[in-house]
This record gives sequence, structure tokens and C-alpha cells, in this order.
Amino acid sequence: MLTEYMHAEHADWWECACGNTPNQSGFYPCNNKGAICEPDNSWDGIHYICYDCGTIVNQYTLMLVGHADHDTAIHNANYWD
Ligand SMILES: [Zn+2]
Repeated sequence: MLTEYMHAEHADWWECACGNTPNQSGFYPCNNKGAICEPDNSWDGIHYICYDCGTIVNQYTLMLVGHADHDTAIHNANYWD
């Protein structure tokens, strides 16, 4: 399998393959399954998710590590309700 990476113009400016950028839907801290979480002690400090397409990225390597499954996508869609 080909390893894919998040496109980053700068360390704090990502551009997802789906077109999402920080000033659009943005990226949120999540666990390794893609479930959005608070950026506190419960967070692994590593993973972010693209809010538009559910791609999970390692913020240090920028490697795309997976994709949120259906249940996780529902969790994320309802996260701020
Ligand atoms: Zn995306």
C-alpha cells in the first residue's frame, strides 16, 4: 500500500486531498480511530482528523494513518451538539 501524506505548506497550514484547509472545516484532535476529542490529557497528542472527509493524520510525520469509520463519523458529526 502506498503511504500518503498530508500536504503542508507550513507546519500549521495543512491542505487535505479533499480540499479542506484550516480556515474551512478545519482539523481536530482525535484518537487513532478518528474520534474527535478534547486536546487534553485524554488525547494522544498525535492524531488529527480532517473534519470534511474523515482522514486521520499523524501531526508529526504528516502520514495519513487511516479513515474514520461510520460510527466514528457519527460521533464526530454530533460532537458539539
Ligand atoms: Zn479531507
